[in-house]
Amino acid sequence: MKDRYGRSINYLRLSVTDRCNLRCRYCMPSEGILKENHSDILSFEEICEIVRVFVKTGVDKIRLTGGEPLVRKKLPNLIAAIRRENTIRDFSITTNGILLKQVAKDIMDAGISRINISLDSMKPDKFHRITQRGNLKDVLDGIAEVRKLGFHPIKINTVLIKGFNDDEIGDFIDLTRNEDIEVRFIELMPLFNNWEYNKSHYMANTEVIERYPELIPVTCSDRSSTALKYAVPGYLGKVGLINPNSHKFCSSCNRVRITADGKMKTCLHSDQEIDLKACLRNNIAMEEVIRKNIFLKPSDHKLETGKYVMRSMSAIGG
Ligand code: SAM
Ligand code: SF4
Repeated sequence: MKDRYGRSINYLRLSVTDRCNLRCRYCMPSEGILKENHSDILSFEEICEIVRVFVKTGVDKIRLTGGEPLVRKKLPNLIAAIRRENTIRDFSITTNGILLKQVAKDIMDAGISRINISLDSMKPDKFHRITQRGNLKDVLDGIAEVRKLGFHPIKINTVLIKGFNDDEIGDFIDLTRNEDIEVRFIELMPLFNNWEYNKSHYMANTEVIERYPELIPVTCSDRSSTALKYAVPGYLGKVGLINPNSHKFCSSCNRVRITADGKMKTCLHSDQEIDLKACLRNNIAMEEVIRKNIFLKPSDHKLETGKYVMRSMSAIGG
């Protein structure tokens, strides 16, 4: 359905857990965040019920996220149940890749076809430093596995962190030389819990283009895509630039989000949340609530005012 600004809202980002096996410095404090009680996290049945209603409103694209979605127990069962009950054109997942090698085949068989893997450094010591615990080899093995299995497209999400990984931009672009993958550089977004770190390490994506003029814009068929697409002529893959700060894409935003504890968010950077879990657990009809709030989706984020959202990115799902 359309919101009051005429945007078609067809994309649901669904967080299946607030837990994570990493502690990326820009996302979570090293001690982690206060975890929700197990009973506050949506059950598979509740998630399926919510998805069913969103599909009725016109959602046909779903991405599973987290925390780290692959730490949710029996995730392939949830994927299969969502697939079985709904007509979804596009069903994908964003993962840090740590557990990917073990579960890739199961999530593919259950119905996921597209995958985004987050990777901020290709140097083992730096990877460990930014994630505060991770082993790079696990992620690389996961990427090799999804390539072998034939997931398509495969996208690598790299958050640009000034003074940390801006010296690796060329290496990331080089990944697109012989492989039909997309490397996406994401501008670091400030949130309440990490704005000091994130502001001091922020780098605009325009710097990528300035430093790598061999990147040439390419046309993108998906008009709601948040990434501006580029490629090096002759390379098989593409480079995407996701610029939430330097070039707002709110006017074409088609997304709504559900947190692991069942809150609907119509803007990533707004603290406004609608409690769908309360609707479910108190037998309040959800469809009208969802439709009303999709209609009222805010026109744009207000990051430039310096007011940052209170939840951590891991609790929202990115
Ligand atoms: N754990 C999974 C992962 O890391 O891919 C899924 C959840 S994570 C919150 C989703 C995406 O958000 C990741 O690509 C991560 O790098 C990105 N992210 C987290 N915090 C961010 C921030 N402050 N600014 C920009 N991107 C961020
Ligand atoms: Fe975990 Fe993903 Fe946040 Fe890293 S970015 S701490 S992997 S939720």
